[in-house]
Amino acid sequence: MVKLFPAHIPKPGAGRDLAVALVILAAGGVVPPEDLASAVVLGELGLDGAIRPVSDVMTLTLAAARAGMRTLIVPAENAEEAQRVSGVVVIPASRLDELVERLNGGCLGKRPPAGGHSTATPPPLDLADVTGNHAARHALEVCAAGGHHLFLLKSPQGAAAMLVEGLPGILPPLDAEAAREVAEIRSLAGTPSGGSGRPPLSAPHHTITPAAMFGGGSDTTRPGAVSLAHQGVLFLDDAPEFPGRILHGLRLPLGKGMVMLAGSDHVVRMPARFMLAMAAHPCPCRPEQCMCSERVKRAYLSRLAVLLDLVEVRAHVHGATPQEGPGESTATVAARVQAARERAAARLAGTPWRTNAEVPAFELHVRFKAERGALAPLWAALDSGLLIPTVFARLLRVAWTLADLRGADRPARQDAEGALALWAPTPHRTP
Ligand SMILES: [Zn+2]
Repeated sequence: MVKLFPAHIPKPGAGRDLAVALVILAAGGVVPPEDLASAVVLGELGLDGAIRPVSDVMTLTLAAARAGMRTLIVPAENAEEAQRVSGVVVIPASRLDELVERLNGGCLGKRPPAGGHSTATPPPLDLADVTGNHAARHALEVCAAGGHHLFLLKSPQGAAAMLVEGLPGILPPLDAEAAREVAEIRSLAGTPSGGSGRPPLSAPHHTITPAAMFGGGSDTTRPGAVSLAHQGVLFLDDAPEFPGRILHGLRLPLGKGMVMLAGSDHVVRMPARFMLAMAAHPCPCRPEQCMCSERVKRAYLSRLAVLLDLVEVRAHVHGATPQEGPGESTATVAARVQAARERAAARLAGTPWRTNAEVPAFELHVRFKAERGALAPLWAALDSGLLIPTVFARLLRVAWTLADLRGADRPARQDAEGALALWAPTPHRTP
């Protein structure tokens, strides 16, 4: 027998069919009960095992997110709607037998995505909570100071997601105009913010549909994850797991700062200017027991090739070693980022650009000049074929950011070398 609590609230409709079925299966040992305890289950069940859609999934998903639930099993036809709510993992299900198989394969055991936009989102993590990883922290700081994109190569014990969750905290607070844009987008998405003035972090799961990622679909006024990241950070954890068409589709917002949502007779432009942060394991297996060949590893990361030439800052994240002390706090790093941003803003006053990442390559050669001979390491890398010209321009921007961070008027040789090291980091070896 299954009891539904609380008894005094009416429970119309058949939307609890699937939950009841899973509870019975868990009680019978057919599916692992401990995983189900932390999941919200929606869906009507047909006699043939088909899982049918339910109504008002958005409201139910928001309620679940506010209650702190981070995993939802929903009918496949409702998945797109549920995925519009950030900070929750949505597991689409179309048949009961398939779902049972996936539950036994551990599909609920995965870590939910970071961040989120509901008002129940906890305050951002303090970077002091992440031990060690000085190279990755430096990469994070440089990205925040210059508006550059970030790629983190993960190790099993590394805290890549935690680091990225700390990124909005070291970015400068939104100005009034940016805060208004962010509030408008959230309101369109049905997830109004508390007006924190903090840059958003949008962290979609890799099962996201194109409509939930880019917006639109049946409703061209619905912002996607890229627009929810506007003026903040879009975080793709386990980035190679995202479908190729989603990775490829990101080039447009990354280049134009917006997406075009096409309806039957109209097109809506939705802002989507964000810093991209991606994290990936080096291979597709469980890295703890990795037996993958170099060829398999290369093929796995090459799925990101469509985006990696746009990402100028890279770092390895590793498990902290005992000799590594605690890291600096968010406030300490944020102060340095703010000072660097002010330096760049003063230099860029009167131009349409606010961060080094936005300055066109041509201007970097004509209007702003590095110290004489400072760029020799970058020119050498270009000559040797290590860099292509577009990457050269990206690293020149990073060199400017490094100069801003150390309070210098323009890049010196050490900044060019620093930019190269951030672009091609050597792997950290744990003892
Ligand atoms: Zn492997």
